[in-house]
This record gives sequence, structure tokens and C-alpha cells, in this order.
Amino acid sequence: MAEKQRITVAHGDGIGPEIMKATLSILDAAGAQLEYDEVKIGEQAYLSGVTSGIPDEAWESIRTNKIMLKAPITTPQGGGYKSLNVTMRKSLGLFANVRPCKAYTPYVESNFPNMDLTIIRENEEDLYAGIEHQQTEEVVQTLKLISRPGTESIVRYAFEYARANNRKKVTCMTKDNIMKHADGLFHKVFDQVAKEYPEIEADHMIIDIGSAKLADDPERFDVIVTLNLYGDVISDIAAEIAGSVGLGGSANIGTEAAMFEAIHGSAPDIAGKGIGNPSGLLNGAIMMLVHLGQTEVAEKIENAWLKTLEDGIHTGDIYKEGISSKRVGTQEFAEAVIARLGQKPEKFTPRVYDPNAKPIEVSRIPTTTYRKKELLGVDVFIDWKDYNRNPDTIGNGLVAAQGDFFKLKMITNRGVKVFPGGLPETFCTDHWRCRFVKQNEGDTAINDKVVELLNNLYSAGWDFIKTEHLYSFDGERGYSLGQGE
Ligand code: NAD
Repeated sequence: MAEKQRITVAHGDGIGPEIMKATLSILDAAGAQLEYDEVKIGEQAYLSGVTSGIPDEAWESIRTNKIMLKAPITTPQGGGYKSLNVTMRKSLGLFANVRPCKAYTPYVESNFPNMDLTIIRENEEDLYAGIEHQQTEEVVQTLKLISRPGTESIVRYAFEYARANNRKKVTCMTKDNIMKHADGLFHKVFDQVAKEYPEIEADHMIIDIGSAKLADDPERFDVIVTLNLYGDVISDIAAEIAGSVGLGGSANIGTEAAMFEAIHGSAPDIAGKGIGNPSGLLNGAIMMLVHLGQTEVAEKIENAWLKTLEDGIHTGDIYKEGISSKRVGTQEFAEAVIARLGQKPEKFTPRVYDPNAKPIEVSRIPTTTYRKKELLGVDVFIDWKDYNRNPDTIGNGLVAAQGDFFKLKMITNRGVKVFPGGLPETFCTDHWRCRFVKQNEGDTAINDKVVELLNNLYSAGWDFIKTEHLYSFDGERGYSLGQGE
């Protein structure tokens, strides 16, 4: 018998403790070779005075065991502590979020009986960097950060996943028609990496139409790889249309550690009622057992679970008159699965895992080649509260203050050019992006020239709130043009 693996277990918030208890009871009854190191994170930790929501001993446990099974955690909306899920995924380098979404018709109702896709969501970058600033009274900003190494890792993981799981196609979804640099990088890296996997079909869709097609015709998709935010949104859609958001499991994979959970959240609306579906967390736990090489137990649990679904024993979220035979609560569902351990489904194809399969490994060593970086100018963001908001007033004022190295090229307001020659119809806020470029193309700009410009603007009374440098890389423009520029 395999040696017991010690894992960190967090019972979470909302329905978390109920579905975790149910899941652990199934794991134990199936003979999973696991020992649990239980930690308290989330609301409980927060209320006891740990402002981050993750006490030191929880970090220590996770970093020692390297494998975690985590029930959903409540994240306050709008204010309060930051998402622990995001903090853990990023701090532990869990770059790949794997979310299989499969239909179980006719036993779980879905309009898409042949739906069987996996969403591979980038897990460390994008808007989830959570770097936000209020810059003026009227405008707040969130930074969207996309890196080449981060993108390479996730895209390569998606193709390796497709190869390991005998999948035929990987679809990349981005919004690179609008975010030509950030999403453009993701798409470009996807095209480059796809060439290394000629046996797998690779295609790209813009995320808006991609999501629409996913909702309307999910059976056309196989593996989808996408950025963090889009992946978050479309995996809930995919899980829901497959049958219920309560069914899907999720793996967060890194090179050093891995965390397994349900796709769904803490479902506060049904917490404490004992009616939540434990299947999402159970499926996360099955992914964990496969990851740990305990494929026999994984198979045993999954087949018993499929048999339970087939027998019509369903929690409220998937219960349907005429299809289901019995409506059960969380623990009763777990007991039904336990009673079927050792049985195989009769209608669904029984699950078989390759006992020799190894977890997917992707190198995270950056392959960056550094190009010649040249400073061409600087965007200076200015807080200007003028009742009339006439762009010519700020434009002419800045020209008068610019000095003799940089010159004002244009001003945009929320991305749209308003000076010189803007349209009077354009609505303006108090947040002005002012683009300065070299007066003489042949000059070499260095940072002291930026400091000089800022000094000039400061002396003239302009309230600059941030700068973004305009670079070229081996002559290639590294910044976007203004709309209308
Ligand atoms: P949610 O997924 O918790 O719930 C959405 C809806 O689905 C609710 O009506 C809920 O009752 C239902 N539902 C979810 N899981 C179910 C299950 N297992 N069985 C039956 N019904 C189920 O989404 P939400 O309401 O947007 O989020 C609640 C909280 O969870 C928020 O604080 C959010 O930040 C957090 N959250 C955490 C995670 C995580 O820990 N990984 C993921 C998503 C959301």
C-alpha cells in the first residue's frame, strides 16, 4: 500500500465546511492514502484578527505539504481583505488553473449532451494583480499585467494537457482587437507555441464571440486556454451549462505545489442548510488523487459518483422531477457515493486512469531575449479640475510649460484624442493623458529628461499623477496609439 501523503485541508466558508466533511468522508471510505493537516483560513481567521486571512501556521503547512484541498472561501466585495484564493495561487506559483466541464446527461439535465471541455485559465497575472489606484476624484485605475514567461507557461501547459489527455484541439481566447499589446502578446505566444504541437489543432477566437459560442454550442470546444479574468467568467458559464456550477472541480497547478478545489464559491445563500452539492469539491479531490498517483482510489470514487448520478440520487441544484429518483442533502449524497464504492456506472463509460501517468511538467525558466530598448517619449497623466474642461486650455498650458527637450504631441481623455483638434462632443473627465515626444528625433532621451519635464510641469502648477514611458524595442513600438491619433 502506498505511503500516506500529508495534505493541507481548509474547510472554508459558507457551504465549505459541509461539502468538505462530505468529501473527506468519501475519501476516507475509499481508502485514499492521505493524512490531513487542517488549517483555518478565510473569514474565521480574519475575524480572529489575522487581517490577511491566512495565519502563518497555515502558510507553513501549505509550504511543507505542497498539496492542498481547499473548500471555497468568501471574498468581501468592493472592500475588505483581498481574495485569499488569488493570494495563494500567486504566492505559491500555481500558474495553471485546470477546469474540466462535462455534461452528465441524461441523468443531469443539460442542453449539451456531448459537452466535454477543459478550460485552462492563466492563474497569476492579468487584472488579478489587484494593483489599483484612485488617481483623481473621478477616475480609478486597475493595472492589467501580462508577461511573456507567464503566457508561455500557461499556453504550453494547455498543449501538454491536450497531449496527455488525448485532446484534439486547443482554442485560445483573447481580446487582442482592443488590447493589442497585452492580449496581443498572449495570442502571439499561443501561435508560436502551437507550432511545437503540430498534431493538435490550434485556433483563436475573440473572447466575446468565443463566450457566445461557448454558451450556445459548447460541444465544438475541446481545450480552451485564456487569460485569468476571461477564464474565471467562462468557466462558471461552462460549468453551469454542463449541468450545475456545483459539479465542477478545479486544479491549481504549480511546479512546487498544487491546490485543489471546486469551481464554485462559498454559496452563502444556502450555507448551513446541508443542501449544497459536494460534487465540485469531490471532483477537485479526484483530480488531486490522480495528481498524487493514487489513480486506483480516484477511479473507485469517480465511478461510484457516476453510479450515484445515474441512480438519480441528486442534490437540489441538479434535482429534476422525472429524471431524479431521490432529492438528498450534502451528507446523504456522500453516503450514497460511499455505498457505491466498488461499483461501476452502467450507462456512463466507467472512468479509467493511467496508473503510470505523471503530472504535467512545464519549464518556468524564462526564454526572454532582450532587445534594444529606446526611450521615445513619456505619457504624463495629469489631474486637472477645470469647470469647462476645455482640452485647448490644458493643451496650450502644457505647451507653454514643456521646456526644450520634449514637446506635447497629443492629449487623450479616457483614451480618446481631445487635443489638438478633438471633437466638442467628446466627454472629458478630470484625468488627462498627455503624450510628450522628443522635439528632435535624433536626440537620445534618458530619464533625466523626463525628470526635467516633470520639474517644468510642476513649476507651472500642473498636478501630474503618474507617468508611463514610451519605448521601442528593436524599433518596434511598445505602446498603443490614442484613439483618433
Ligand atoms: P457561488 O458559486 O458561491 O454561488 C453561485 C450560485 O450557485 C448560488 O446560488 C449558490 O447557491 C449556487 N451554488 C454554488 N455552489 C453550489 C453547490 N455546491 N451546490 C448547490 N448550489 C451551489 O458564487 P457567488 O455567490 O458569486 O460567491 C459567493 C462567495 O464565494 C463570494 O464571496 C466569492 O468571492 C466566493 N468565491 C470563492 C471561490 C473560491 O474559493 N475558489 C470561487 C468563487 C467565488
